Amino acid sequence: MAIATINPATGETLKTFEPLNDAEIAAKLDLANQTFEKYRQTSFSERSHWLQKAADILEQDKAEFAKLMTLEMGKPFKAAIAEVEKCAVVCRYYAEHAPGFLADVSVKTDASHSFVRYHPMGAILAVMPWNFPFWQVFRFAAPALMAGNVGLLKHASNVPQCALAIEDIIQRAGFPEGAFQTLLIGAAKVADLMADDRVKAATLTGSEPAGASLAVAAGKQIKKTVLELGGSDPFIVLESADLETAVVTATTARMLNNGQSCIAAKRFIVAEAIADKFEKLLLEKFEALKVGDPMQPDTDLGPLATPGILQDLDQQVQNAISSGGKVLTGGHPLSDRPGNFYPPTIIIGIPPEASIAKEEFFGPVALLFRVPDIDAAIKLANDSPFGLGASAWTTNNQESDRLVEEIEAGAVFINSMVKSDPRLPFGGIKRSGYGRELSIQGIHEFVNLKTVWVK
Ligand code: NAP
Repeated sequence: MAIATINPATGETLKTFEPLNDAEIAAKLDLANQTFEKYRQTSFSERSHWLQKAADILEQDKAEFAKLMTLEMGKPFKAAIAEVEKCAVVCRYYAEHAPGFLADVSVKTDASHSFVRYHPMGAILAVMPWNFPFWQVFRFAAPALMAGNVGLLKHASNVPQCALAIEDIIQRAGFPEGAFQTLLIGAAKVADLMADDRVKAATLTGSEPAGASLAVAAGKQIKKTVLELGGSDPFIVLESADLETAVVTATTARMLNNGQSCIAAKRFIVAEAIADKFEKLLLEKFEALKVGDPMQPDTDLGPLATPGILQDLDQQVQNAISSGGKVLTGGHPLSDRPGNFYPPTIIIGIPPEASIAKEEFFGPVALLFRVPDIDAAIKLANDSPFGLGASAWTTNNQESDRLVEEIEAGAVFINSMVKSDPRLPFGGIKRSGYGRELSIQGIHEFVNLKTVWVK
């Protein structure tokens, strides 16, 4: 894949970049290692100060950064603004809390003194996706930098200007040169990086094949990885649910980021007793959405990020139809305009056992399933190779307890859509990956947890 900015709303190539050659990559790895030796000696208060400054820059220039995101991957500008603001929040969160998260932890034993101490590991490689081009990177960078690690970013090839802007923000914030570097490289270079002694561990957010390939490369070198992969989150609506709020939230949860979010609600599992009503209301909401230029403030749904994603999604919809699904609205790319536009789409009647029902639809397509009761809802929700998040709607406490207890996922949200929050850990199980980002658990992923015993 070429490293380039191609406007998804028009198909126009705006800028192309030459990937780094081997000598340039080696120079950046050397710099990362040299910087680490000094950077690890800096105090928490220095790191916090720099990270707060990064938050200031994000807030001051949010319109500029948001515009870059919309230009490179097509998310609505208003959502891009919110993303930049959230990046500032995660910077301030770790600037404030990391010293506490990484303080020595005393453990009473028969030693005179025994405790746990957290040490940084060195250069951590972050392989990141285009869908939240700033957020995905900052939620890695903020804890990693506070822990005293240095970061190497291999961003998705379609968001190079975002990748360079992030490196620049961290540099301007005052972090030492080499504390965070962007490597403009293709995916084929990642395995070599994992084999390099100068890279100590890696985190990847992206598709299953990318995650598996990184894990193989890291496994050969016995290096730690965190993988945040795909999801096909269920959105369960039971009979007692507040239907109106559930439908409004269902629409937001499916359309988030033009439908391209790992934690978007993708499979709508609705109790038979309310299914007709839910279906009718959801159809009204989907058909009322405004599809168009993502820079316009009244646009709800912009283009998909690349022509390849559009083609893949369309193929999945056609497969769903040939498996027995019926399209209620949408169902074909919008051919009346340039760019990668796909309309809000609802498909009902796919047999739950069909293999297409178990795939992740990375775009504005909702799959609707009807179930007789909560037992069937939980069974269908869990009948997925993924286990990222789940949203479930009920006003019955017993049902709520069962959903929390029995749904196989990294997160369950009751009467709310699934979202990430710096204060809570984020990550999945099954083929959605392993490890956690955010919160105290996130900062502990890339540290050496050293046991100390003093007699
Ligand atoms: P992708 O193709 O896997 O790309 C993600 C990153 O991995 C890019 O930087 C890509 O580089 C790189 N990559 C691709 N193949 C690789 C390989 N074989 N070895 C090493 N690196 C490789 O995924 P995407 O299509 O951009 O993103 C969509 C997927 O990400 C969805 O499944 C979505 O659910 C998942 N996602 C998960 C989370 C989460 O937190 N769980 C968040 C967001 C997205 P190039 O661009 O150069 O190919």
